[in-house]
Amino acid sequence: MNPEDFRQYGHQLIDLIADYRQSVAERPVMAQVEPGYLKAALPTEAPQQGEPFEAILADVDKLLMPGLSHWQHPNFYGYFPSNGTLSSVLGDFLSTGLGVLGLSWQSSPALSELEETTLDWLRQLLGLSAQWSGVIQDTASTSTLVALICARERATDYALVRGGLQAQAKPLVVYVSAHAHSSVDKAALLAGFGRENIRLIPTDERFAMRPEALQAAIEQDLAAGNQPCAVVATTGTTATTALDPLAAIGAITQTHKLWLHVDSAMAGSAMILPECRWMWDGIELADSVVVNAHKWLGVAFDCSIYYVRDPQHLIRVMSTNPSYLQSAVDGEVKNLRDWGIPLGRRFRALKLWFMLRSEGVEALQQRLRRDLDNARWLAEQIEAAPQWQLLAPVQLQTLCIRHCPAGLEGEALDAHTRAWADRLNGSGDAYVTPATLEGRWMVRVSVGALPTERAHVEQLWARLQAVVNG
Ligand SMILES: *Cc1c(COP(=O)(O)O)cnc(C)c1O
Repeated sequence: MNPEDFRQYGHQLIDLIADYRQSVAERPVMAQVEPGYLKAALPTEAPQQGEPFEAILADVDKLLMPGLSHWQHPNFYGYFPSNGTLSSVLGDFLSTGLGVLGLSWQSSPALSELEETTLDWLRQLLGLSAQWSGVIQDTASTSTLVALICARERATDYALVRGGLQAQAKPLVVYVSAHAHSSVDKAALLAGFGRENIRLIPTDERFAMRPEALQAAIEQDLAAGNQPCAVVATTGTTATTALDPLAAIGAITQTHKLWLHVDSAMAGSAMILPECRWMWDGIELADSVVVNAHKWLGVAFDCSIYYVRDPQHLIRVMSTNPSYLQSAVDGEVKNLRDWGIPLGRRFRALKLWFMLRSEGVEALQQRLRRDLDNARWLAEQIEAAPQWQLLAPVQLQTLCIRHCPAGLEGEALDAHTRAWADRLNGSGDAYVTPATLEGRWMVRVSVGALPTERAHVEQLWARLQAVVNG
């Protein structure tokens, strides 16, 4: 494809995306296909000769579209919102089109400096002090892995340049809430802590980590000759958007000199609203924090923001610095390869910059407030309705609900819950996520897709009341 072909088909592709966004509400939210449907429709080998681009675009429509679950749909209430504002889509497009890589500052100076500048804008919007420096990672999973590797290296005085974890006399221990995201568990395993050294700290009636239980677990480990190393607290857990009490947890991590990482992948977006900042009161006691700008905030996936208080430590852990990447200005600039695991770096800051400039902060704040209001409205309906239950406080935009007909409990109630959630998702009218909470099934309704207005949430409530009856 030459640039002139690109011009022609690029316009067609933009039209396709614009049409898609305009008409997505007419599609079933959840893909209504069977496993293997696409593999059966595609050739088993790549074509030897190039095909007309029209043919490829036609297959996007015919073959791929039916196999999509539509995250940008107004009736998408699954998992968590992953909003791709169109301004950020254009930023992503430009990043790919320019095709530049940030290996070092010199390999693309604008890439490094735009990332530094936009992340400092975002830092201020989130209400974080000037002590924090940020870098864009692909996902929260990676950010948390980087955090736990840094925690490990601080606790061992950089064991990685000696015998590594294998030469440690005492096992290092990580503490996480029993409601932490699975990526936290994965990060602790990949960072080498080992299953036996991950402590799941019990939670209270609001599903938040109990600081006194954390304190007790640390003391028990010290008595047993283990080395407490890091605590991962969550602002906005996945099941219920519970808020671990950061100030109390931070006091404990400071006393014991433990690393505190805060996973606010989902709820971090809400910190652009001053009225929500109480949710991470104590954040300044943390060593690292992750906020996924690619969730509710609206930057097209992927854009996970990782802030640290001590960038020198991060760089010391992550830096390799081979001769071919060195340059005369290294002392004056940020070389973002030393701020995480990958060497190569996309121009991801472009999509954040495009979105912030094109939407403006006020519109972003308004949209998040709209979603909080809509979630509160739905919570009120559910609280007032007989047989319906809210299972957790609605502090953000996610509801955990159950429909409890008289006489149904235990496994029969589980079967009812799963059946109506499947009926709803199978109908294509709305998409919700069934999940377990304390061993029993419930349904998560996560409000906050870009086009979701009050009228959609009203329709959802009507649909929920109908679908539970079969
Ligand atoms: C979404 C989420 C994650 C995982 O995010 P990825 O970016 O997909 O790795 C981790 N923790 C919490 C609290 C989340 O909401």
